[in-house]
Amino acid sequence: MRVGFGWDSHEFKSGIPLKIGGVTLDHSKGLGGHSDGDVLLHALTDALLGALAAPDIGSLFPPSDPKWKGADSAVFLREALQRMRAAGYAVVNVDATLILAAPKIGPHAAAIREHVAELLGVSPDCVGLKAKTPEGLATDNAAIANAVVLLEKKTT
Ligand SMILES: [Zn+2]
Repeated sequence: MRVGFGWDSHEFKSGIPLKIGGVTLDHSKGLGGHSDGDVLLHALTDALLGALAAPDIGSLFPPSDPKWKGADSAVFLREALQRMRAAGYAVVNVDATLILAAPKIGPHAAAIREHVAELLGVSPDCVGLKAKTPEGLATDNAAIANAVVLLEKKTT
């Protein structure tokens, strides 16, 4: 078995859609920066790559490369999954914590878990998702995601 950990943060910006876990949420601001700014998929991608001791998301998909501007972050996750399968591993479960002041994630948590499970090819009960507000961190204009993933070697 192998464990991986991923962390990511993005700043809220006006005029762009908010995507978290591949789900577009209704909000006045979206997350700027690398690709579509999907902080949760980036943390999950880095967790998978970390479990494989592979190069991280920024090395594989440099933010400086215009090719990734506005890109669907599912592309990064799929690449990490492809590397995982090539190495003979499968996802056991993932667990993630989002830290953001708004919007409230609770009403969308089931949809996000289901979508992430579909991307990972696991059942939704293998995807943990919690959301916290950034109490005392003075980061109300950012979204942060932490993710851990457990992989197991497939016996063929
Ligand atoms: Zn990111």
